[in-house]
Amino acid sequence: MPLGGGYTNRVAWIDLTGGQIEYKPIAEEDARKYIGARGLGVKYVFDNGPQVDPLSPENILCFMNGPLTGTDVNLSGRMAVCTKSPLTGTVTDSHHGGWSAARLKWAGFDGLVFKGKADKPVYAYVENGQVTLHDASDLWGKHVHETIKILQERHGGAKDLSVITIGPAGENLVKFGCWMNENDRASGRGGTGCVGGSKHLKAIVIKGKHADRPKPADKEAFKAAQKVALAQLTDERFITSPRKGGLSVYGTNSLMNDTNAIGALPTRNGQEAAFGDDAETLSGEWVKANILVNDPTCHACPVACKKEVDVKEGPWKVHMESVEYEPAWSLGAMCGNPDANAVAWMIDRANDWGYDAIEIGVVLAMYMEYSQRGYANGDGLAWGDTHGMAEVMRKIAFREGIGDILAEGTGKAAKKLGHPEFAMACKDQAIPAYDPRGIKGMGLGYATSNRGACHLRGYTPAAEVVGNVLNSTGKTDPLAWEGKGNLVMIFQNVHTFTDCLDVCKFTTFAESLDSFAAQFAAITGTPCTAGDLLTVGERVYNLERHYNNLNGFREGSDTLPKRFLEEPSTMPGSVGQVCELDKMLVEYYEKRGWVNGVVPEAKLKELEII
Ligand code: SF4
Repeated sequence: MPLGGGYTNRVAWIDLTGGQIEYKPIAEEDARKYIGARGLGVKYVFDNGPQVDPLSPENILCFMNGPLTGTDVNLSGRMAVCTKSPLTGTVTDSHHGGWSAARLKWAGFDGLVFKGKADKPVYAYVENGQVTLHDASDLWGKHVHETIKILQERHGGAKDLSVITIGPAGENLVKFGCWMNENDRASGRGGTGCVGGSKHLKAIVIKGKHADRPKPADKEAFKAAQKVALAQLTDERFITSPRKGGLSVYGTNSLMNDTNAIGALPTRNGQEAAFGDDAETLSGEWVKANILVNDPTCHACPVACKKEVDVKEGPWKVHMESVEYEPAWSLGAMCGNPDANAVAWMIDRANDWGYDAIEIGVVLAMYMEYSQRGYANGDGLAWGDTHGMAEVMRKIAFREGIGDILAEGTGKAAKKLGHPEFAMACKDQAIPAYDPRGIKGMGLGYATSNRGACHLRGYTPAAEVVGNVLNSTGKTDPLAWEGKGNLVMIFQNVHTFTDCLDVCKFTTFAESLDSFAAQFAAITGTPCTAGDLLTVGERVYNLERHYNNLNGFREGSDTLPKRFLEEPSTMPGSVGQVCELDKMLVEYYEKRGWVNGVVPEAKLKELEII
């Protein structure tokens, strides 16, 4: 497969120990099998050896573009950060939007792969197909927003420039420290920023101009494919429709009232499955009516789902982007906190300290339940204690007092505290904002996610709540467990290939499989069908699973917190429900061709993995 169109066919391999930088093309066979971004990053992590200690110099940290990244394809401003996770011990990938991914492509790269450990803090500067390393000693200890400001001033201002950086959380090896991009866009999950901290890699500065974006291999075919894709995204039946659909008008937080109404909004650490009337003050509707000031977007995106807010006065005065559904839930309902202004302030702090904004809320909620049940010896944290939450958040970033334990993340911290039953986590990563008792497919999705609990591996709420799936408006009963094995597998394969291209997952509400294939073929000049893309999705998902199997994740690893399996929901919409994970797993493993969660050799051969 010749690497034309959207590929620059150049990956920088950077050894932080010795400072050597090599520039290599992508092996054609790897591009054919894994496309790019998540697929190629996971392949590099796999080839580096599954047994590596995540925080050792031997682990690699990959910042990967796909062949559609930074092109004129809609919603193509995505980058995958891939590594072995210090939070879960699995392979992980985490994506951010904004412009840094596009600029990395415009600067001449499909990816940057860091290995080793610098003897003092460094940052990488990327421009015109070259990478240079610079002393970052003066930046170490600085928060995200200040670091970005300093680096913008040092490199000629914000025009055409993106800064990706870690904050104190990553530096202090908080297991859910993340990479932040352009102040507010996070590669949030899995502790990729913690890996950066372990390597003394503080930041990546990228200069790239829009004029240098890759051109499609087949211009006419691209024009036709893009017209179809745009018509699908703007179709008013779909939530992506600019200024009409819920995602565009209210952002991801358009979901808060919906999940609350169906008893699928985990509340007070999942002790309840809805937040009652208090959900309204956290919702996208409330935010729009009270504090919304702008709708920012990412490269090549007419949807503009980001929701910039301004809290003008009071203790939570803040101007920030953006109040998203997941952190509004994690720092809101999950912690028994209905104050949206406080939530906005805390999301901004999470971004500035460099946390995964899902994990930080869930680890606080775990500690709140631990306190509620009397284990904190009169200390601890009460539900909805916003000032207490802010202080514990700060302590975690600097590993002070209880913060040192909570810095290990929800799963590991709960075990250290002697109460793993309070951890709403899978494979030690916190669950996101959907209660598996009210949305059964999501429960199976959490349990079988290769990077620990995650909604984005297979976003079944598109079918179970929204009813917008790949250019159709069919809806699936969220409380039924039958058929969810197949549903989850298909969603996982679809989202895996979009992560390889790399385009925003929200395209999959509206765009058809054929539309993705047509855009890929036109940009790269490689013939492609929907079936080809689904095969790549399946292959990458199996490669990740094989990697995890080699790390000891085998029979019994795909599970959920007991609460969701044994404590029936008491809330309207899902009252009396538990999540029938065992039944769904049987169907799922059969569809996947796995044996109790393990990929057999025959499957690995069938998919050309070995
Ligand atoms: S839909 Fe939202 S997250 Fe996706 S590319 Fe557009 S603005 Fe970015």
